[in-house]
Amino acid sequence: MGSNLSGSPLLGRDEKHTKEREHASFFNKFITRNSSLIQFVKQYDNCLGSREQAERESDAADFHTVIPCATKSCIEAQFQDVYTHQKFREVQAQFRGKVNCITRLTNSALGYSVYEVGEQVSSSIFNKFVVTYDSVAAEVKCQCLLFESRGILCRHALSVLSFEQLSQVSPRYILERWSKKVKRRHTHQEQP
Ligand SMILES: [Zn+2]
Repeated sequence: MGSNLSGSPLLGRDEKHTKEREHASFFNKFITRNSSLIQFVKQYDNCLGSREQAERESDAADFHTVIPCATKSCIEAQFQDVYTHQKFREVQAQFRGKVNCITRLTNSALGYSVYEVGEQVSSSIFNKFVVTYDSVAAEVKCQCLLFESRGILCRHALSVLSFEQLSQVSPRYILERWSKKVKRRHTHQEQP
């Protein structure tokens, strides 16, 4: 009824009904009129199932394939051994970034060294970062705070570790949450 009420005083009410119909058809795209909440949950479950399947496949890739190191650094190999593919790629981007860094020791006393790392970001622009290295605590800190904010050692800190000729990085910089073993354990816990 009332399919053509435009111009009539009932327009306001008709518009409201039109809106309601639009909303209904919008939701009908997702849930058919007769589907129950249980069916909806099942559909949602299927979605999660295929996501889990994808995660299991990437999990298998983490264990059965190896991403080659971008550099000859033994520290990079440390991350290669432990991290998931996804996280290792992020770490590698920092190892690659080392080529644009020039490291200069500015101060050193009692095993505590202060470096200035110049990073070339364009043909004429160098950004400078202060990096400190404590050889007793095996602790490296960079002004850019990448590790503090994202948990990944920055190219500046990595440059200093190379300068210090370290072959291993302290385990504190290899975070367990990105270990492929941790990922596998969580994936298995999720199984019913
Ligand atoms: Zn940095």
